[in-house]
Amino acid sequence: MKSDQQPFLSLSFDEFASWCIEHKIPKFRAQQVFEWVYKKGCSDFFKMSNLSKDLQAQLDLNFSFPQVRMEEFVSDDGVRKFHVHLHDGKSIESVWIPEQSRATLCVSSQVGCAMACKFCVTGLQGFMRNLTVEEILMQLYYVRWIKNLQVSNVVFMGMGEPMLNYDNVVKSVNQMTSTKAFELGHRKVSVSTVGMVPKILKYFEDTNARLAISLTGSSNESRDHWMPINQKHNLQELKKVLQQVPTNKWRKIMFEVVMIKDETDTDQQAKDLVHFLQGLTAKVNLIPYNENPRFPDLKAPTRDQLLKYRDRLMKAGFHTTIRKNRGNGIFGACGQLSSSKY
Ligand code: SAH
Repeated sequence: MKSDQQPFLSLSFDEFASWCIEHKIPKFRAQQVFEWVYKKGCSDFFKMSNLSKDLQAQLDLNFSFPQVRMEEFVSDDGVRKFHVHLHDGKSIESVWIPEQSRATLCVSSQVGCAMACKFCVTGLQGFMRNLTVEEILMQLYYVRWIKNLQVSNVVFMGMGEPMLNYDNVVKSVNQMTSTKAFELGHRKVSVSTVGMVPKILKYFEDTNARLAISLTGSSNESRDHWMPINQKHNLQELKKVLQQVPTNKWRKIMFEVVMIKDETDTDQQAKDLVHFLQGLTAKVNLIPYNENPRFPDLKAPTRDQLLKYRDRLMKAGFHTTIRKNRGNGIFGACGQLSSSKY
């Protein structure tokens, strides 16, 4: 990349259109270029055949596309993990999860993570740096257009705490949902956070996408232990802000609870969760703990206990699902992503 080039993927349509107007290029050209890039998957200005040779060269001089280097791991259940090498030698991971009627891409927002949740492998490596807008979006661009895989949903549930890379994540979310760019529906994009309270209302102002909260412990005592962020923003503070967000039938908050055997899957924890959720428009997704040799003492819950926990929530009126354990064989499951490949 030449030093004065701008990463094309980091530009919204309005930003690119303004650049065109400043350079005396008619606005409809911006539309054409966006169509090539986002609707036809073309990332070479010289192949944009309805542009003049001069304009192709001018764009090529001013804008760049990322040179993506990825390694791919395919699991028996069809899940694909992409290990992405960044320009500075660091790496991140994205996971593509096909289901019957949809395919979800799980993207990373940071290299590593500072949140240090006691059950998460990403947390063990600590925080390295934020991803740029281009680095977030190239995960989707590559899978969609270079690997030619369908992507109907995106979840920010890979490496990192999205709300600590707020501006870049929000810009990326808005590019994903923009009809001019990736054109995923607002309901198809979801950002997951440990509960970064000061950013939550703003997120609802700045995007129309969904929000997921990783809860795991359902009392302060338990959550203080499993998710140290709770010592800064506890459950009462979290609930207070969640009561103010504009939710509706379509924009329910999703709570993710990692179920760890005899720790977070107990009857008492289920009872505490029902209490916490009172008054919130919420759905719950139970994530059976994915075992990892790095945490030898933590085990997955039994099926019976999982169902018992779920039934208790359902009885209290909260729609509750159990996440299927996918991509385990390639360390592509929740909480297993890291900068080392295996
Ligand atoms: N930092 C954000 C984004 C990461 S989402 C957040 O925490 O929400 C990753 C999800 O996987 C979180 O809900 C996390 O609690 C969960 N998770 C982490 N380790 C896990 C494990 N070993 N098994 C199952 N889920 C895990």
